[in-house]
Amino acid sequence: MNELKSILETNSISVSDLVSLLKSNGQQQQQLFQYASEVKKMHLGNKVFFRGLIEYSNICRKDCYYCGVRQSNKTIKRYQVSDIEVLQAANLAYTQGFGSLVIQSGETENKTFSRKIEKLINQIKTIGNGALGITLSCGEQSEDTYKRWFDAGAHRYLLRIESSNEQLYRKIHPQNKKHDFRKRIDALYSLKSIGYQLGTGVMIGLPFQTHEDLANDLLFFKELDIDMAGMGPYIEHKQTPLYAYRDLLLPLHERFQLSLKMIALLRIIMKDINIAATTAMQAIDAEGREKALLVGANVIMPNITPLKYREDYLLYEDKPCVDEEADACKNCLEARIHRTGNTIGYNEWGDSPHSMRKK
Ligand code: SAH
Ligand code: SF4
Repeated sequence: MNELKSILETNSISVSDLVSLLKSNGQQQQQLFQYASEVKKMHLGNKVFFRGLIEYSNICRKDCYYCGVRQSNKTIKRYQVSDIEVLQAANLAYTQGFGSLVIQSGETENKTFSRKIEKLINQIKTIGNGALGITLSCGEQSEDTYKRWFDAGAHRYLLRIESSNEQLYRKIHPQNKKHDFRKRIDALYSLKSIGYQLGTGVMIGLPFQTHEDLANDLLFFKELDIDMAGMGPYIEHKQTPLYAYRDLLLPLHERFQLSLKMIALLRIIMKDINIAATTAMQAIDAEGREKALLVGANVIMPNITPLKYREDYLLYEDKPCVDEEADACKNCLEARIHRTGNTIGYNEWGDSPHSMRKK
């Protein structure tokens, strides 16, 4: 354990050290998990925060090669949750004691969409007199739109870089202006300068991805000084171009283990940020999110999207909770979380100590 600590607690941890830890198994992997859990306890206690997740729309102008709701997938029914349904879901989150909401959406970049989200943020902010924290995850938008949404009261934004290796990014996206790596990086910096608490993340176990790529992703997060992270395993979807490369993939359980190691390492190198136990973890392992909590994650996003839309927001196959009411989710989640030795921070925004410290 001491050896592990001395490797990880240097100011300039190397790519090769991270790679060897990402490849670890057996006792070394166990030590990594144990240390990450200690770091979490020391810096964040054992509190887990809920964010009610509204999958607002699957209408998307993009064509990411990995994603089931990409524009060219003509087999799915497109939807946008109505204003009333969003407000009902937000009220539900409030009464359940979820301190925050996440509004996630396929990417639409126009004035109507921008104004609509702005109005929804304003309305959500009236619930319980500003009781709900709001995270947005609506892709790349103009600086003006990001500003409007921030001024309306959204204070966190999640935009995954997907991979910080530009070459790999180009392999998993079409080569055109809509899918420009540099533009995505610029968007991250613009969100940060506006004042959002910034979240990003990557998919783990993508075809063509190496352990070096993942190690560099971790260093990229540190360099960008993010406040929160959402990472999870890549899960193939039949109606996407990347499905053709499924033979290159690690078996699902190995992608899952690798994701746990990414979470543990990120917890150790960025001790007081928020890290989500993502739905994709649960898609591979029924207890995936709980396992993520045990190695450093501290945020869970129960799905509160109206049921009738859930099966149309299939970013990947076998997505869990497509037929479960939010109530049922909450009760079973609560018991599961308590079994991991964590408690739930009800009625709190749950901003990361990292973001508070920066203020
Ligand atoms: N449209 C926005 C937000 C919604 S997509 C955006 O792209 O930023 C949210 C996340 O789902 C993406 O960032 C991506 O990392 C993840 N995702 C998409 N397809 C996936 C797949 N096949 N497996 C795992 N995660 C996937
Ligand atoms: Fe659209 Fe996001 Fe899916 Fe890309 S990952 S196709 S931007 S919903």
